[in-house]
Amino acid sequence: MDTNVDVIVIGAGITGLVTTFLLKEKGVNVLLIEKNTRAGGQLCTVNDDGFLFESGPNTGVVANKDVLDLFNQLGDECTLQTARKESKVRLIWKNGRFCPLPSGLADAVTTPLFSWHDKIRILFEPFRPKGNDPFESIASLTRRRLGKSFLNYAVDPFISGIYAGDPEILVTRFAMPKLYNLEHHYGSFIRGAIKRHPVLAEERKQGISKEIFSVKGGFKNLVSTLENRITPTHLRLGAGKIQIEPVENGWKVVLPATGESYFTPRLISTVPAYALPELFPFIEENKLHPITSLVYAPVVQVGVGMYNGSLIPQAFGGLVPSCEHEKILGVLFNSSCYDDRAPLGAASLSFFIGGMRHPEWVNLPEEEMVAIVTDALHRMLGYPLGTAPDKIHIFPHPRAIPQYQADTEQRLNTVCQLEKKYAGLVLAGSLRDGIGLADRIKQATQLASL
Ligand SMILES: Cc1cc2nc3c(=O)[nH]c(=O)nc-3n(C[C@H](O)[C@H](O)[C@H](O)COP(=O)(O)OP(=O)(O)OC[C@H]3O[C@@H](n4cnc5c(N)ncnc54)[C@H](O)[C@@H]3O)c2cc1C
Repeated sequence: MDTNVDVIVIGAGITGLVTTFLLKEKGVNVLLIEKNTRAGGQLCTVNDDGFLFESGPNTGVVANKDVLDLFNQLGDECTLQTARKESKVRLIWKNGRFCPLPSGLADAVTTPLFSWHDKIRILFEPFRPKGNDPFESIASLTRRRLGKSFLNYAVDPFISGIYAGDPEILVTRFAMPKLYNLEHHYGSFIRGAIKRHPVLAEERKQGISKEIFSVKGGFKNLVSTLENRITPTHLRLGAGKIQIEPVENGWKVVLPATGESYFTPRLISTVPAYALPELFPFIEENKLHPITSLVYAPVVQVGVGMYNGSLIPQAFGGLVPSCEHEKILGVLFNSSCYDDRAPLGAASLSFFIGGMRHPEWVNLPEEEMVAIVTDALHRMLGYPLGTAPDKIHIFPHPRAIPQYQADTEQRLNTVCQLEKKYAGLVLAGSLRDGIGLADRIKQATQLASL
């Protein structure tokens, strides 16, 4: 006999955990099934002798109300941490030193990051004609409206920091929809920013600060709080290869590891695009291909602990533009943002290597990763030559971040077609609707409200 459940959610990353938690809070009989023995997906925190390292995301952005609502619902069990005010500064590597990314008009005029030509040119941005290519890349849009130096020393490193991606390939409409809409709706970034000022002020009043956030004790505490609130009755970890079959009015889901068998009218997948063929072997390969062809940037995150933290700037981190031809994509100064990331006086850092710039570097031997980080500690952060990391944790992610390229529209159409063909099926997760933690929480909130 199959056990009936209202909804089955597959994949216990942040999307699946939050969807299940919110459904359960509403009294829905929901079951979350995870292949691995651990929940959290890309969220994973490692503690080492007072240092705290994240293997996946270090921070999210308070970009929408759903983030705040989630933490309000979780209450004291899981404390949202916003970064210290002084650590807001973003540094950009240029000509052998880190320079602050301008945060106001005065800084923008004096910064060495942008050329004088582009600084003057930006005054005419509101009068530049609107683009008409819906598939225009982020690089092309930036060059057209702001100039090459803004692309090289602001947008390129920024895109590298979010997507580990290539702005020449990522399509603005899909990867940076807010930027696309500024030009599309208001004809100009500057005009759009001015017109949207009251909207942003209203959002700020509601607590949508756009500040970066983490969780006290690291994201593993968000995962464990959600797991506790979901309770073991509604969660199956270590399910291994599950069997899914469309049946009349719904879905049959079997967990061969335990012999459990379920019927549900609604099946929500939150697994990455490349994991879909294993879940849905009855869907022909060519029908799934527009989804499974989604490219993921490979990234290595190297968590480094230094007992002498005095050399680390009071900043969020430093990003390295591709035109500087360095071996790291950037470095986050986690202990400059949050108190609990390192012992007093020490520093916890995250270096990023690879991305779409050098996807092959995800396979570098460990000693080369250590050498890259040791070199960056000396040349970029001022540690004496040859100073080795006191702590080091290497986290390779062969398929880290989805790249929303020109094939996105076809992927989204295929998702719609499959959801139409298979009643009750929802294909969610970061293969659509954004890659950031705030996007994931927003999608989960929407899934739980349908
Ligand atoms: C190195 C790195 C740094 C990042 N930095 C940031 C950042 O600073 N800020 C930010 O906002 N975002 C960041 N991200 C992105 C963010 O972490 C992800 O978008 C988010 O965690 C994805 O969550 P998810 O639940 O959609 O997917 P996942 O976390 O991938 O979860 C999917 C789950 O599905 C499970 N699964 C797969 N196949 C099956 C199957 N057949 N059956 C059952 N379960 C299955 C997996 O085991 C996994 O647990 C980063 C990501 C990485 C890798």
